[in-house]
Amino acid sequence: MIYDVIVIGGGPAGLMAAVSAAENGASVLLLDKGDKLGRKLAISGGGRCNVTNAMPIDDLIRHIPGNGRFLYSALSAFNNQDIMNFFEKLGIALKEEDHGRMFPVSNNAKSVVDALLKKVKSLNVEIRVNQPVQAILNKEGSVQGVKLVSNEKIMALTVIVAVGGKSVPQTGSTGDGYAWAKACGHTITDLYPTEVPLLSDEPFIKQKVLQGLSLRDVAVTLVNPKGKSIQTHRWDVLFTHFGLSGPAILRLSQFVVKALKKFKVPYLEVQIDTMPDRNEEEVFQSLLRLAKESPKKALKSVWKGIVPERYLLFLLDQINVSPTINYHELPHEKGRDMARVLKAFPVRVSGTLPIEKAFITGGGVSLKEINPKTMASKKMSGLYFSGEIMDLHGYTGGYNITSAFVTGHAAGQAAAREALSVKNHR
Ligand SMILES: Cc1cc2nc3c(=O)[nH]c(=O)nc-3n(C[C@H](O)[C@H](O)[C@H](O)COP(=O)(O)OP(=O)(O)OC[C@H]3O[C@@H](n4cnc5c(N)ncnc54)[C@H](O)[C@@H]3O)c2cc1C
Repeated sequence: MIYDVIVIGGGPAGLMAAVSAAENGASVLLLDKGDKLGRKLAISGGGRCNVTNAMPIDDLIRHIPGNGRFLYSALSAFNNQDIMNFFEKLGIALKEEDHGRMFPVSNNAKSVVDALLKKVKSLNVEIRVNQPVQAILNKEGSVQGVKLVSNEKIMALTVIVAVGGKSVPQTGSTGDGYAWAKACGHTITDLYPTEVPLLSDEPFIKQKVLQGLSLRDVAVTLVNPKGKSIQTHRWDVLFTHFGLSGPAILRLSQFVVKALKKFKVPYLEVQIDTMPDRNEEEVFQSLLRLAKESPKKALKSVWKGIVPERYLLFLLDQINVSPTINYHELPHEKGRDMARVLKAFPVRVSGTLPIEKAFITGGGVSLKEINPKTMASKKMSGLYFSGEIMDLHGYTGGYNITSAFVTGHAAGQAAAREALSVKNHR
């Protein structure tokens, strides 16, 4: 038997590719090395499955800093609204949460994965789990099929590689596809962790002074060795036993990776601004005003509520001010110091957790060698890519899953059309 389309990988990219190929009339075989499909999808968005993001297309692209513009063409055929309609038609009611994130109303990731699988099966896609692929078979610049680790060879007119990146390998994405792409003539750009917590060896981190503390809606800025801002993100920050985490930090992480490499330095500074809507002078004046209003009260009481108490006491300690002194005992320059650390508390960061612990893999199959409309390889006929294996990465918040669904849809449709046209011309 020669399949029209073999899809390798049953994540969001591969599942959507299988649906789209089958809907376009192709015979489809879906192979996955694991015993379950959609494992990473099921743990996305805090285990509730962040199926897509409702933002307008331009904003969506802006939230995919790793080559998001590549997606314009595919998005014009199948976009985030189409993803929502797709799931609603499968009976999965969706709701929008903060930052445009779309979740199933049930908050149940399994319902999304089950609905996708039901759809795949309804289209007579043949599914084989526990079937790790070892290589892509090709001859004279054309794909022939795949070879499994078991040595079995399966023939196909087209192959879609949707095996994901290298992050969280226990979900099945172990980076197998890069070697296959390379063997087919593709370039793999440098791989690096993105959406990943940052490491810091600051004494207060090592001593776990702030471990577990979360700062809400703060701005974090990565600065270069000359103190110039590289990138700012505003959202929550979490102090951990090894460094910094939380959504604002995850977004900053890829810029830290790139800047450490670019400047060839062991450390960079991240500044935490707890009052992003006010400048330092305004913060200073409001600190003075609060202290003046209750001149006999301890600073820890009059400044209570401007930031979490634990952070307030920490900052006072950092500038060597006793929390029990009052307005009269506060040296003027210490008031300025307090405003400065509230606006830009510096944390030295030395890197990130490894790629295996990152949410997303940065880098991948070079997009210069992939057709943005069809996801077809420009190096080998019959070969297609979709999802995170490509040099395409977004922030968490549904952007990567959108990218997987959109590129899967494009690849499935184009692979089916190619296969059917090959058959018609035989
Ligand atoms: C904890 C966590 C939370 C996340 N949250 C979000 C979020 O909120 N928003 C967002 O946009 N993104 C999020 N992501 C990222 C998102 O889940 C991925 O970008 C997306 O799943 C990638 O889809 P994919 O289909 O390309 O690859 P994957 O989902 O990684 O699927 C790849 C599949 O290929 C199979 N495979 C691998 N090698 C082989 C082989 N040799 N033979 C056969 N099969 C193989 C694997 O078993 C796997 O099933 C999160 C990721 C993690 C880890």
